[in-house]
Amino acid sequence: MERKRIVALRRLKAPQLERLRESFEVEYFEEPEQHAEAVAAALRQAHGLIGGKLVVTPAILDEAPLLEAVATISVGYDNLPVAELTRRGILLTNTPDVLTETTADTGFMLIMASARRLVELANMVREGRWTQHVGEPHFGSNVHGKTLGLVGLGRIGRAIARRALGFNMRVLYSNASPKPELEAEWGLERRSFEQLLAESDFVCLTVPLTEETEHLVGYEQCRAMKRSAFLVNIARGKVVDEAGLIRALEEGLIAGAGLDVFEQEPVSPDSPLLRMDNVVTLPHIGSATHETREAMASCAVENIRQALQGERPRDLVNPQARPNGFPQPEQEPPVDAK
Ligand code: NAP
Repeated sequence: MERKRIVALRRLKAPQLERLRESFEVEYFEEPEQHAEAVAAALRQAHGLIGGKLVVTPAILDEAPLLEAVATISVGYDNLPVAELTRRGILLTNTPDVLTETTADTGFMLIMASARRLVELANMVREGRWTQHVGEPHFGSNVHGKTLGLVGLGRIGRAIARRALGFNMRVLYSNASPKPELEAEWGLERRSFEQLLAESDFVCLTVPLTEETEHLVGYEQCRAMKRSAFLVNIARGKVVDEAGLIRALEEGLIAGAGLDVFEQEPVSPDSPLLRMDNVVTLPHIGSATHETREAMASCAVENIRQALQGERPRDLVNPQARPNGFPQPEQEPPVDAK
């Protein structure tokens, strides 16, 4: 039987490509933008598409009539047309869990860095401006003992909560659904979004980008926060109305921000955010460690292998794409039936 074909774009290394090539024909493009025509030609024959920062539109899907599965090497899939894939019966998988701890590290790092003015003061030292002992103008804020407000208490939110409890913080959360088990076991406290903004010293965003969460935090929400509070965004840039945040920071409505993500990425070098000492900016590195990116790629490889071999992939986003479900794996017959 002819082997199925996979187009792989970015973020895959030799071991993962080898794993795919055990069962499939694979065409890999490290820099797909520079080979647009070859990618389009490969997609016309492809049963699977795997990679990071995938761009998939209805027009692209029209030109990929054999496509059965798309495996994104990320947990977020706000950049992908889920309903359209489902309508066409194309499975979509993502890479949850394997990046949770690393992304939570990044979130907590931003909490610490913004509170203690890490980048601003490290730059002062590097640039030879540390000419006398630091005084009050350089002091930061405590993190331990303060109140953290998590907007979103999913995998990453919980992992940040665990870190915060180790720092003796009080942890509030607002989330689509209540998490009574975490309230009972960890002492987390549920609040409305508005209450959380008012009570928190650090507001940390860990919700997915959806129609509901787009521009969840803007000028008015910053105004509802304490003037001594910090905003940390580790979710997606568009969860924050950046113009509103900039205005709030310019007016001193909040103490600062730690941002891993931006409305437009890469962020424009002209963004006022880059000129603010009280804003720590990172180039979307939530999951960007050697170990975690490798684990994410391996996870996506396993998902697309399962999808193309007729199994239910472990991290399936749209089970509705197979309304009749998946065949049950063959069971070993009971011992006495042998
Ligand atoms: P997750 O486990 O699905 O958690 C998301 C949480 O948000 C869920 O608990 C969900 O509530 C809650 N939620 C959804 N919509 C909400 C709303 N409108 N209001 C309040 N809460 C809402 O996802 P995760 O693995 O933690 O990842 C979260 C997001 O982080 C991803 O979607 C991705 O965009 C982002 N991310 C960023 C990076 C980075 O590099 N910066 C890395 C990884 C992930 P329920 O529990 O009720 O469903």
